[in-house]
Amino acid sequence: MSGLVTSQQRLRLADIFFSIQGEGALTGTPSVFIRTTGCNLRCWFCDTPYTSSEPEGTWHTLEDILKVSEEFETRHVVITGGEPLLPAAIVPLTHAFAERAWHITIETAGTIQRDVACDLMSISPKLSNSLPKEPNAWQTRHQHQRHQPEVIKQLISQYDYQLKFVIDTPDDIDEVLSYLQHFPMVPPGHVWLMPQGIDAETLAYKSTWLEPLAAKHGFHYCPRKHVELFGNQRAT
Ligand code: SF4
Repeated sequence: MSGLVTSQQRLRLADIFFSIQGEGALTGTPSVFIRTTGCNLRCWFCDTPYTSSEPEGTWHTLEDILKVSEEFETRHVVITGGEPLLPAAIVPLTHAFAERAWHITIETAGTIQRDVACDLMSISPKLSNSLPKEPNAWQTRHQHQRHQPEVIKQLISQYDYQLKFVIDTPDDIDEVLSYLQHFPMVPPGHVWLMPQGIDAETLAYKSTWLEPLAAKHGFHYCPRKHVELFGNQRAT
């Protein structure tokens, strides 16, 4: 696909900003973060409600997004959300970045498949511990949509990837292990366990049991460096 973008193609973004990647294999990498707004899930622990339950954002042309990104001293872009694979305009944007030789990470819950260009598909499949607390239509929708094994198989066959699971309690490990039985092609080295929490104290406490638990199964422990360093503050 051509990386040509037109002035008609637009995306609604909650944020576009420069920071350090705080999670996963590229932790510490200076990156431009493009945060789309809108999500098909409503995890109770969502740390960006302004992209899910209370979506905010402004429309930007793809040309402007590329122009703003190129002002920063990096060629790593992290496309995140919300769910960044929801809007169709994400496809030409990723191809435009690829044509300009950027390294592209996409952070997704792995429920939607699109023909994007991507160097690292960072997939955070949602376990049953993410279910919205209120028994309403979103809870039902979340339960039906959060697990899309065919999409996950497609993504991991097509791209380099990491699977990041949000862990709330030690018992969650059982669900991770049974989940992974459906994907025998995933080696433990592609799996990251990330503590649920939006403040440094909670994360520090959970690391005391989660780090050894991850090591026991050959998984990576995934600190949330951006929260440890900056708190759960919105970037812009
Ligand atoms: S998938 Fe991510 S952005 Fe969407 S509700 Fe869950 S935590 Fe929030």
